[in-house]
Amino acid sequence: MACKAGYILVKRPMQCIIITIGDELLIGQTIDTNSAWMAQQLNLLGIAVTRRIAIADERNAIINALNETVGKTDLVLLTGGLGPTADDITKPVLCGYFGGKLVVNLEVQEHVRKIFSKSDRPILQRNLAQAEVPDVCTVLFNRVGTAPGMWFENDGTIVVAMPGVPFEMQAIMEDEVLPRISKAFITNNILHKTLITAGMGESYIAEQIAAIEQSLPAHISLAYLPSPGMVKLRLTAQGNNRSELESEIEIFAVQIKQRLGIIVAADEDISMEQIIVNLLKQHQRTVTFAESCTGGYLAHRLTLVPGASEVFNGSMVTYANAIKQRYLHVPDTVLQTDGAVSEATVLQMATQARIMFEADIAIAVSGILGPGGGTDEKPVGLVWIGLATTLHAYARKFLFRHDRVRNKELIFQAAYDMLRKELLAENGVEG
Ligand code: AMP
Ligand code: MG
Repeated sequence: MACKAGYILVKRPMQCIIITIGDELLIGQTIDTNSAWMAQQLNLLGIAVTRRIAIADERNAIINALNETVGKTDLVLLTGGLGPTADDITKPVLCGYFGGKLVVNLEVQEHVRKIFSKSDRPILQRNLAQAEVPDVCTVLFNRVGTAPGMWFENDGTIVVAMPGVPFEMQAIMEDEVLPRISKAFITNNILHKTLITAGMGESYIAEQIAAIEQSLPAHISLAYLPSPGMVKLRLTAQGNNRSELESEIEIFAVQIKQRLGIIVAADEDISMEQIIVNLLKQHQRTVTFAESCTGGYLAHRLTLVPGASEVFNGSMVTYANAIKQRYLHVPDTVLQTDGAVSEATVLQMATQARIMFEADIAIAVSGILGPGGGTDEKPVGLVWIGLATTLHAYARKFLFRHDRVRNKELIFQAAYDMLRKELLAENGVEG
């Protein structure tokens, strides 16, 4: 028989299994973002997620998952299947599993009525049924929706069931679950420190920092997380004393930064566009773009950052040769002799865009993304990136070998890395 929330003290790193329920997760119609979000939150509390299980909205599947986890781990977080429709069966299955019966919770009923009174939809019996909860659980109030969360304790395991709707699950986690967990358990500290590197591959980085990696103590680990054009290095430290861990992890982060030099773009887990906006603000510079093959992607990424308006006035997409000629004054002779994908073209594009948009720095890009249009001399994947400032202009040639989407991402990384190095060089940091 299950019981309601008491407090269990676990004086060791607590372990959790996440179960996500929903047919849509298994056919790939919905991506399971709940697990990732919950795992991040648990990690911050020093709770290790040891397994993630995704199952169908089926009685046997739910019971099997409970049999595999209850009594075998400290915490089970479960989402999905709490909606008012017949395909959602998690609540009656849990109620039966833990030997309870459904009873009306007046507080939840009042809340459901209130939600419906604010909308022009009529309240149905199936909506009111959301207020029925197993009498063997602690009800976790859902301030943003009608389905409450449920907290069961059985055989040394806490089982928490929450709706699948991500923002409802997050509200219940934040309001009810995380505070209870951090009170109920003495948890280990898990600290992460992430360094962002740009422009070099993980093998190169691993060679450079091999000696530092070998000197890491057992409770500190290093992970390489590569993505197009960049590698994140994540140091993870585990232990009891948080402040000791903080200073230890910092020492190794500094060693890695010194060893890798300018390829370290940030010592926190932020995006490349955020890094660039920070640098532009710090050095009071503005930027613009003249884009051909990226179609505005470089500008788009910058505008993802709140406050980008302080460093960005506008930019231009010049896809056709005629537009490059008309607005950025790329001479006909250059387009005829060097071509649109050439050093001379991107230098002119950057120089002119910088003047036109009154920016301190301009980046221009022109390339052949394919799959057609390549020649022996100018193959698919050839990209020129130009950079112009008030003092000088230069360009770099790249050859990317992936599909259009991935190549655009690589161009973004390469262009922003040129921008980053220019800003650092202007301010006395040498590459
Ligand atoms: P349910 O609680 O099963 O009625 O789920 C309601 C909504 O939440 C559906 O639109 C699901 O696609 C979505 N959902 C369910 N589980 C997840 C999950 N693990 N990650 C992201 N969305 C989910
Ligand atoms: Mg569902």
